[in-house]
Amino acid sequence: MDMQRIPARKGNHNLRQYEEMRASFKWEDIHQKFSWNETGKVNIAYEAIDRHAENPLKKDQIALLYSAPGREETLTFEEISKQSNQFANVLKKYGVNKGDRVFLFMPRSPEFYVTFFGILKTGAIAGPLFEAFMEQAVRDRLQDSEARMLITTPELLERVPQDELPNLEKIVLVGGNLEDSGKYIDFTKEMADASDAFDIEWVDLEDGMLLHYTSGSTGKPKGVYHVHNAMIQHYATGEWVLDLKEDDIYWCTADPGWVTGTSYGIFAPWLHGVTNVIRGGRFTPEDWYETLAKNKVTVWYTAPTALRMLVSAGEDLVKTFDLSSLRHIMSVGEPLNPEVITWGLKAFDLRIHDTWWMTETGAQLIVNLPSEEIRPGSMGKPIPGIEATIVDNEGNEIPPNQMGNLAIKAGWPSMMRQIWNNPGKYESYFINGWYVSGDSAYRDEDGYFWFQGRLDDVINTSGERVGPFEVESKLIEHPAVAEAGVIGKPDPQRGEIIKAFITLNPGYEESSELLEDIRKFVKTELAAHAAPREIEVRDSIPKTRSGKIMRRLLKSWELGLPTGDTSTLEE
Ligand code: ATP
Ligand code: MG
Repeated sequence: MDMQRIPARKGNHNLRQYEEMRASFKWEDIHQKFSWNETGKVNIAYEAIDRHAENPLKKDQIALLYSAPGREETLTFEEISKQSNQFANVLKKYGVNKGDRVFLFMPRSPEFYVTFFGILKTGAIAGPLFEAFMEQAVRDRLQDSEARMLITTPELLERVPQDELPNLEKIVLVGGNLEDSGKYIDFTKEMADASDAFDIEWVDLEDGMLLHYTSGSTGKPKGVYHVHNAMIQHYATGEWVLDLKEDDIYWCTADPGWVTGTSYGIFAPWLHGVTNVIRGGRFTPEDWYETLAKNKVTVWYTAPTALRMLVSAGEDLVKTFDLSSLRHIMSVGEPLNPEVITWGLKAFDLRIHDTWWMTETGAQLIVNLPSEEIRPGSMGKPIPGIEATIVDNEGNEIPPNQMGNLAIKAGWPSMMRQIWNNPGKYESYFINGWYVSGDSAYRDEDGYFWFQGRLDDVINTSGERVGPFEVESKLIEHPAVAEAGVIGKPDPQRGEIIKAFITLNPGYEESSELLEDIRKFVKTELAAHAAPREIEVRDSIPKTRSGKIMRRLLKSWELGLPTGDTSTLEE
C-alpha cells in the first residue's frame, strides 16, 4: 500500500546524522550526559526534577502546567522538587523502604506528580493505576504487586477492597478529611509537617522504579517491571523523536496509568527540562483544541483514537482555534491510519509521526523521525541503537515483504526486566536472543516496518493472510465510517471470512445500500479478498481505557465465547 510519501521536515538532527548514528551509536554515549557518570549512583527523580531545581536558570521555570475543569495550577521545578521531598519524608516516616511497591490511584492532578516523585526518591517502586478502574481491577493489581501503600482520594476509596489486601498497610488520602483510623494518612496534614529537605536514595541503574500493568487488549494484564536505566532511552528519544528543545511547551495526552503517560508524560519531557502540560478531565474535541491553543503547545503526543475523533469532528472546528504554535505531532498506541495523516496535513499543516512500542519495551523503538520521509501506514524505522526484524514462529529471520512476528534484538536500555510474579511469562517473550513482540508486521526493502495487527488478529481467508489494520484503515476512508474493528470469523469454506464492525459518522443512516457501498469501496480500493463479507453497524466499538480497539472482545461476542478479563474495558 505504497501511497503518497511525505517528505522530511527539520528536526534536532538531519537524516545524515541519524544514518551515522544508526551505524555507530552506542547507548553508553548517553551516560556521559548524567551525573552518575561520576558517582555511579542514580535516581531518575533527581535527573528529571532536582537537577533542574538546583540550576539557578531553571528552578523557577514552570515544569507542570495543569488544567482540569474547575482547577488550574502551575508548579516550578523547584516546587516539585521540594514538595516531592516532603512526601518522601512522609513515606519514610511510615516505613517505606527501597524496593517496596507504592501504588497511586487518583485522577491526574499536581498531587499525582508530587507523590510519584516522592515515591521514587525513597527508592520504592511506583505503581500507577488509571483512575477509572473498578474494584476488581484495583484488587488484582494490588494483590499481584503486594503493594504496601496506596495513595488515593476519599472518592476512590470505595473501590479499594481493603479486606482482601493483607499487604496494604497504609493508605494516603489526598483531599477531604477522613477520620484517622491508624490506616489512613492525611496527605495535607502530613505534608504541612514534613521537611522539604530529603536525602534522596541513590540506587543502581538496574534497581526498580516502576510497575506498569499492560492495557489488557489481548488478555489478563501483565505487571511489567522497569528500572532506572530506562531513563537513558527516555532521554535519547526525547531528543530524537519528540524533537524537544528547552523552550518547548509539550503535551502528552496519555494518562500516567499507562506507560505512555509515564515514559513520555513524565520522564522524557522533564529529563529535557521542558514545560509539561497536563490536562485532567475527559476528552472533547473543543477542550483538546482549546488546551493546544491556550497553552501554545509546541510538541504534542497523542493517540489514533483521539485523532480519529478529531477527524470526525470536522475541519470547520479546528479552524476556529489558533494552533500556530504547534510544530511537531506524534501518535502511539494503535496503528495510525493513513487517512488521519492526510487529514493532519490539511488541518495542522503538519505531519503526524507514528511511534511503535509497548509497555514491555519501556520506550519507543520504531518511529517516524522528524527528518525522515513518512510512508503513511508504516510505523517507520528503528531508532539508533535498536535492531528490529521479522521472525517466524521458531525465531528465524524472514525476508522483506513477508508478514511475521515483529522482533527486537534483546537488551536495549528501557526493556522490562521482569514480569512481576511470573518468570515463565517473561521467558516466553524471548527466542534466539530476540524479544518477540506478538505484533504482526512486515519490513520493506528500505527498512520501513508495516504493522498488520496483533498476531492473533491476523485473518486467514481463502488462503490469504489479511491484517485487520489495512481493512480498518480503508473502511474509515469511506465518508460514512467513523471507526472500524475487523475480525476473522470462522467459515467452513474459506477458513475465515472478514467481518467488520463499524460506527457511522453523524448524518449517515444504516441501510443495505450503504453497507454494500462500503463493501464495494474496500473491494475496489484495497482488494477483493480484503472486502468484509459481513458488516455490522454498532453505536460504539469496544476499547480499552487506553483507547485501543478490543478485537478479542468483538470476536468473543461474535462467537458467543467467554469474554475473559475485561477489567480495562472502557464503559
Ligand atoms: P496486553 O498486552 O495486556 O494485551 P496491550 O498490548 O494493548 O495490552 P500496551 O503495552 O499498552 O498493551 O500496548 C502495546 C501494543 O499496542 C503493541 O503491542 C501494539 O499492538 C499496539 N501499538 C502501540 N503502538 C502502535 C503503533 N504505533 N502502531 C500499531 N500498533 C501499536
Ligand atoms: Mg501487549
